Amino acid sequence: MKHLFTPGPVPLPHEVASSGARPMIGHRSEEFSALLLRLQNRLRDLLKSSGPVVLLPSSGTGALESMVENLLRPDDVVISVSCGQFGLRFREMASRMDCQIVSVDVPWGEAVAPEAIAEAVRVHPEARAILLTHNETSTGVINPIHSIASVLPKERPLLLVDVVSSLGVTPCLPEVWGVDALAGASQKGLLCPPGVGVVWLSPRAWEALESLGHPKSFYFDLLGYRDSMEHLQSPYTPPISLFYSLDAALALLAEHGYAKWWKERRRFAAAFAAGAEAMGLDLLVRQKRHRSPGVTAIKTPEAKRLKDALYGMGVEVAGGLGALKGQIVRVAHYTDMGWPEMCLILGSIYGAAKSAGLSVNAGFLDVAQRVWEEDAPCGKC
Ligand SMILES: *Cc1c(COP(=O)(O)O)cnc(C)c1O
Repeated sequence: MKHLFTPGPVPLPHEVASSGARPMIGHRSEEFSALLLRLQNRLRDLLKSSGPVVLLPSSGTGALESMVENLLRPDDVVISVSCGQFGLRFREMASRMDCQIVSVDVPWGEAVAPEAIAEAVRVHPEARAILLTHNETSTGVINPIHSIASVLPKERPLLLVDVVSSLGVTPCLPEVWGVDALAGASQKGLLCPPGVGVVWLSPRAWEALESLGHPKSFYFDLLGYRDSMEHLQSPYTPPISLFYSLDAALALLAEHGYAKWWKERRRFAAAFAAGAEAMGLDLLVRQKRHRSPGVTAIKTPEAKRLKDALYGMGVEVAGGLGALKGQIVRVAHYTDMGWPEMCLILGSIYGAAKSAGLSVNAGFLDVAQRVWEEDAPCGKC
């Protein structure tokens, strides 16, 4: 039996997979318009926003590129904040647009400090945008977007946030937080197969877009998507099967209750972290409050052997990216995992670590179980 613990794609809930197998419909039909309207409403509910949400036929990278293509222009000054590989990729996109990059770099494994960004904005008040990663999947850090937005002056650059690996698994509330643009994707916290990009813009960002005019990209022209959406249409043939899956996944999250879902994901992450540490393994992210609810990185010089040993027993996890290649193993926990899955992954890691020649301690399940019990849902939430 195979067990998928990669930070995207994630295992699909049954309803999500089976919804994707529904009979095909035409994308100029009333049935499709009804599906698009449902998706709009569900995403607005998740984001607590009344604005339009664009669905792109792309992975997360396409959604990010659409933000950059549409909202930035050559020579724009852009403050690019990075604490890992995905922050660097976002920067590279702006760099290829010939923007002038102001880099704010944070050591990998640490979160971004709001003051560092406030300082960059003070020095570069002319900047058009700030690029930020909410959940840095390459390290397992979650950044405090709300705190960052709240220390910035009222007159400030557009805040563009990569929520590819945070949307669904933790609150993403752009309107409440004062964010200007979000780019997300279907295959991580949204529990779907890969292939749908999600883009949301603030009224201020839509206005900026209107004054900038159409981007060079024809396919990723966000104004075109928004205009079509007003008629409940998609400008080009959309990935209809994936839309059905996304509809089912969003229904599942809403029915479960977002707050409860988010709490349960945090609970799993906390108990897993405690178990791994009790085994004697180091976590890359030292500060508990900066640990991601979706993905945990274990730091070990035997990362490759550990990952391969896990793979050999049917447990697929991810390795390190960029500068962390060969140094970490990343274990994702985006889906509805409970105590049985905790035992499976911790027990598998224990066995794999031993066979990879690492010295690990028993007794880790007791520690994980204590944290699991401490964090038990209270019934009210
Ligand atoms: C996965 C991921 C991406 C890239 O998304 P793709 O869907 O692989 O194109 C970008 N940013 C973050 C934070 C991610 O986790």
